[in-house]
Order: sequence, then C-alpha cells, then structure tokens
Amino acid sequence: MGFVTKTLRACEWRPRGLIGSANIQNNLATAIQLQLKTLLRRVQDLAGFIVKSVRLVGDPGHTHIEAVLAADPRFKRRCSCCGKPGRIHDYLGQRHWHFVPLWGFPVILRYTPCRVICPQGGATVEAMPWNRGKSPYASAYMLFLARWARRLSWKETAAVFQTSWEAVRRSVEWVVEWGLENRVLTGVTALGIDELHWGRGKKSENFVTLIYQIDAGVRRLLWIGHKRKEATIKAGITFLEQQCDGFLAGLRVICSDMWKPYLKEIARQAGWALNVLDPFHIVQHLNLAVDTVRRGEQSRLRDKAARARAKGGRFLLLKRGTRVRGKAREKLKAVLGSLGATSRAWELKESFRKFWQYRSPTWAAAYLRAWTSRALRSRLEPMRKVARMLRSHEELLLNYFRAKRQYNSGVVEGMNNKARVELARSFGHRSFIVLKLVLYHTLGALPEPPSSHKFC
Ligand SMILES: [Zn+2]
Repeated sequence: MGFVTKTLRACEWRPRGLIGSANIQNNLATAIQLQLKTLLRRVQDLAGFIVKSVRLVGDPGHTHIEAVLAADPRFKRRCSCCGKPGRIHDYLGQRHWHFVPLWGFPVILRYTPCRVICPQGGATVEAMPWNRGKSPYASAYMLFLARWARRLSWKETAAVFQTSWEAVRRSVEWVVEWGLENRVLTGVTALGIDELHWGRGKKSENFVTLIYQIDAGVRRLLWIGHKRKEATIKAGITFLEQQCDGFLAGLRVICSDMWKPYLKEIARQAGWALNVLDPFHIVQHLNLAVDTVRRGEQSRLRDKAARARAKGGRFLLLKRGTRVRGKAREKLKAVLGSLGATSRAWELKESFRKFWQYRSPTWAAAYLRAWTSRALRSRLEPMRKVARMLRSHEELLLNYFRAKRQYNSGVVEGMNNKARVELARSFGHRSFIVLKLVLYHTLGALPEPPSSHKFC
C-alpha cells in the first residue's frame, strides 16, 4: 500500500512549466473537439443524435477524420418509413458514411443503427437524417458534391474531392429526383421545343427532344426525351400533364422548329396555343440552301482564276451581310462577283431578314408572298425548296407576329446552346440516363433538398 502511494507521488511530480502546457494541450484538444462537433451539426442535420467523439485516424499521409455518432437518449427512435416513434427491435452492424472533407482530409461518420417496430407493423431501420437508403454518403455530402457537379464536370468533381465518379452520379441522381418531385409547374404559359444532336450520324437515336419553359423571367428545362418522334413529344407532354393538372390548358405559346412530327403532335395536344416557328431555324434553312447553291456552282467552275477568287467564301456567305466589314467585305464582294447563282441566292437570303422586322401579321404576310414568288422564279432549286416550305407553313410563321415577336430565336436557341455546352462537358458518357441527369441538373432550375448549410 505504502509502495503505491509512493509511486503516485512520484508520478505527480513534474517540472512546473510542463504541468501548465499539458493542461493547455488537453484543454485545446477538448475545445477543438467541441468546435468540430458544433461545425458538424451546422453542416448536417443531426436532430435526435449526438456526436460522441471526433478524432484523427491513421498515419500521416493517410489521415482521415472520424466522427462517431450515438442516439440521443432524450429522444425516441423513429421509423424510417413513417417517421413515427417506435420501440427498439434489435441492433444492426455499425455502418459508415462519407462526409464533406475538411481541409482535404476525408471525413467519415460512424453509427450503429437499430431497427424499430413500426406502428404500422414490422421492424424497419430507424430514421437517420443524414442517411438516404443504402447510400454510403451522408446527405450533406451528396448535396455538396451535386452543387459542385453543376460547376465542374462529374469527373473533375470526383478528382477534386477525392471520391469516385459513381459517388458524384449518385449524388446528382438523388438531388435531381428530389427536385423533379418537388418542383412547381403551375403558371407555365410558353413552351419551347427543340432537338439536340447527340452522338454520331443522323439516325433518330442520335437526337434528344428538349421541352423548355420560355416564359419571361422563368427559363428552364422541363423535360428530356430520347429521339425526335411524335411519340417522344407525346410522352413529354403526358409526363408534364401528370405532374401538374391543367398544364396543357394553361399553355398560350409553343415555339418550335418546322420538324413535322413536332408540329403534328403540338396541333393534336394543344391546338389552342399559338405555335410559333422559331426564326433561328428558318435562317438555318436559308443558309443551308445558299450553301448548297454555292457548292454546286463552285464545282462547275472551269476557269482557274475564277476558282481562286471564289475560294474560302463559305462563312462570309452565311454570316449576316451587314456584319461583314473591312477586308472580309472585299472578299465577299469578290466571291459574289465570280459566282452568279450564289450571288442571287445570297441576295434572297439577305432580303428575307426584312420579314422579321414587320410588326403587323398582314404586312408580314404580304412580304412573305412577294418574297416566295421571287424565290420560286429564281431557277435555284434549293431556294425554291425553302420558298415552298415557307409557303406551306405561312400560318405558323405569322404566329410569330401574333405572339408580338416576344418569343424570338434567342430564347430557345440560348437554352439549347447551354445544353450543348453541358453535353460537351460531360462527353464520354454515352448513356442517355447520364445525359438526362446532367441536363436536368444544370438547366432544370430544380429546387434542392433542404439543408442547413450552403456550400457553394
Ligand atoms: Zn413506419
């Protein structure tokens, strides 16, 4: 006994300075622990649970931060399916969840969940606010990754935060699914429908159909479908109508391309809405016709000098005439001078710009008739083809003026350009499901699951 007392005394003896510094270190460690716990609670909703400990694990170079959670004894465990409190049935094995990294160190949450007896019958896993099904990622972490995946590509996001591409995909999937279920679709009056080329070749499988809302102030992607058939549009509209009763009835304007299946299905589903043809696509058709004329004429040129003069004018011809200035203007003049038929086609294309400037549908109609008869007399087959097409869509073209020129090419095309950028950024993923997630995530303006912390 005497011996023990003696040893204790020997242990207690330390130089004065050391006692102080050891205490300070202990106090610091506790303070940092407390602050980490507080931070953790701010980032992730942990209602009904306590953070038992936070510590560094592993050797330098492979360190991670581990937070052990426990149930708060003051609260009853709740069922994960109905949210009601229930009696504990049994305990499951310990699980871990990846959490938002701190200063580049991975963070892991550990907890041993139990099963509770659901008031509606059966034993179910208890509700944990950070858990989403069987996902090994905490919900705050998934939201964190999904937020970054909007700014970086999925691959970059995974690399920057030292996680897997799969983790990013699951995170985006959860956020998008939540957003689609919780979005509000009332008050949509203007739709834009367009196609996006995806993959190689002109087969139907290589296109996706996009439906946008293009109301002033609210521009977002509403739906994506594979291919560009009547059935595609039908599926899209049915989906939106199912999500929001009276969706179709509220539509006033639908802006689309001249693509036949689209026009047919729009007329069938929402005949009361004005179907406006997108000026952008009509300009595209005209440009294509000018280019066809040029190619034909250029290949027929025999004179070497004339050939040299006509070379390299393709992009100048397709540009808006008034925007070609300086040296380019000189070049354009030379090209037009050496290619007679192309020059006539170019002049027709340029004069059609006047059509969009009218305010009244009556005057626009008069101009359209004059222009198309001129084009039909031009003996340029590609131009005549465009003229015939415009004549047969006269009513739809004039809807642009009836809609007060509000829905111009910029709106749908602007959205489509953004979609194209996203498509390029997520290249390498040939799966339509991934494409869908990327586009909904970046262009859908979807609401996000509620969170206690805004990461970025
Ligand atoms: Zn339940």
